[in-house]
Amino acid sequence: MVKQVLPNRVDPWQFASKGKQLAGKVAIDNMTRLHQSLVQPQGGVDVSLHFGIDAKGIHYIKGHITTTLILECQRCLLAMPWFVDINLLLAIMTSDRQSNEDDFDTPYDIYIVEKANENLSLLDLVEDELILALPIVSKHDYPCSDFLKKNVVNMTSTQRHSKQVHPFAILKDYKIK
Ligand SMILES: [Zn+2]
Repeated sequence: MVKQVLPNRVDPWQFASKGKQLAGKVAIDNMTRLHQSLVQPQGGVDVSLHFGIDAKGIHYIKGHITTTLILECQRCLLAMPWFVDINLLLAIMTSDRQSNEDDFDTPYDIYIVEKANENLSLLDLVEDELILALPIVSKHDYPCSDFLKKNVVNMTSTQRHSKQVHPFAILKDYKIK
């Protein structure tokens, strides 16, 4: 499989019946819904997708999505890299499909494509998966606010210290004279 820029839209039904595989990059720049959660809305997402039809006749997409998103830490408000590694297994369904008992006993997540003949936006699909993978509250995995507090304390004590040192230094010079 040669790495490429993924097509914007694919026909999932046709791709599934042909057992197509895709691998490539999707640009984060184009994911406007995701942007509000990011400090730096740049970079690429590595995506590999395998379309197929299973023994029950379900059209599926099996895939792997990896990237690093730059989020804002809610504790110290600094940038925080968030590594994303998603294994997806989606059943492609139309919204008018009647759900049945089998739906409760399936490894698939359901992905609705509005009409049976409508093309599927790969950008939307990848963006949906990334939004679902965002942490509820993003925080550094180390005590970053303690780190920040200590630095602020150090800074103010240094300032105070330099103010105190200064008159003594003058006094010392005075004595020598
Ligand atoms: Zn932090």
